[in-house]
Amino acid sequence: MRTFNVGILGATGAVGQKFINLLQDHPWFKIAALGASERSAGKTYREATNWIEPILMPESVAGMIVTDCTPEAMKGVDFVFSGLDSSVATEVEGAFATAGIPVISNAKNYRDHPNVPLLVPEVNPDHISMIDAQNFDPSGKGFIVTNPNCVVVPLVMALRPIHDEFGVDQVMVTSLQSVSGAGYPGVASLDILGNVVPYIGGEEEKIASEPRKLLGRLESDGTVLDADIAIHATATRVPTIEGHLLSITVKLDRQVRDASEIAELLRSWRSPLEGMDLPFAPKHPLWVYDDQRYPQPRKHAYNENGMQTGVGRLRKASIWDLSFVALAHNTVRGAAGGAILNAELLVKKGRM
Ligand code: NAP
Repeated sequence: MRTFNVGILGATGAVGQKFINLLQDHPWFKIAALGASERSAGKTYREATNWIEPILMPESVAGMIVTDCTPEAMKGVDFVFSGLDSSVATEVEGAFATAGIPVISNAKNYRDHPNVPLLVPEVNPDHISMIDAQNFDPSGKGFIVTNPNCVVVPLVMALRPIHDEFGVDQVMVTSLQSVSGAGYPGVASLDILGNVVPYIGGEEEKIASEPRKLLGRLESDGTVLDADIAIHATATRVPTIEGHLLSITVKLDRQVRDASEIAELLRSWRSPLEGMDLPFAPKHPLWVYDDQRYPQPRKHAYNENGMQTGVGRLRKASIWDLSFVALAHNTVRGAAGGAILNAELLVKKGRM
């Protein structure tokens, strides 16, 4: 496998730092450029960044000069990862794609674009071909691929096999989201210590809409027909540090006999990535716990390097059909790690 020179847009932010941490020993991707706002451009990465990752800042990036987020300033990169603030992501990511540089983004801006894949490789790998209808760059070299909101990842990971087998009709989900999901400095300590905040602005809309596209059907014109699933979401912020836990109740098209039927279904589900040798693909993308106390954010969010989705408390619900909890690491699986896996799949499929 050749080595790819990658740029990171928004390299100084919380997600940008997670990219730097996770890419340190990546066998295919080498960090070649770091971009951020004009506040940071021209400084060394060490000077520009308030480092919050739980490892020392890697020497390989500390002395690099941060640039503007323009294709000219980041010349020579094969593609970019984006952890850009949504206030600038539309313009900046569009400019890179137009300049022929693929963009693998965490920002929400292009997620509902009809020709931009919203991708979780284990859930909808076929949606990659939506790229063919993009017209950012007439040569077809530049394109945009997005990954979903960090709550949506564990939700669709668990729903994919259930939807395929039983048909999911309605979903009620309550998220218990850790503070790292709010970036840095995030939620004020006086708001969150010993407390729960029962509202996260803008989050519930994304949780209600993104799974419909992810679980939707790819049409012959390269667009996606959304899955016909009604989703009601309540997003709360809780004083955990990493890992989002979800409480989920679903109404199915076809009744389940008992919860063990679903446990067996999830355990026997085979990821479409099996055998592809993608460095960030977890060996067991879904893990089902029998212990009623599991999964827990502090104990299980880092399973399989933060790339696994844990499912537990599977039980027949007294309303609708089925109830369970799901957990995934929000800044790894739900952000930087998910984007790296998207890039690996694109490379393997010959798209980059
Ligand atoms: P953040 O810590 O606030 O970082 C934002 C980054 O954007 C910084 O590098 C900042 O650079 C850069 N930026 C701001 N204005 C800019 C401009 N005008 N031009 C160029 N760069 C600019 O935010 P974050 O938490 O990392 O989130 C980044 C993105 O990922 C957001 O779109 C967010 O919604 C999404 N996301 C976050 C999470 C999460 O768990 N935190 C999960 C999934 C998705 P400066 O340092 O120079 O200002």
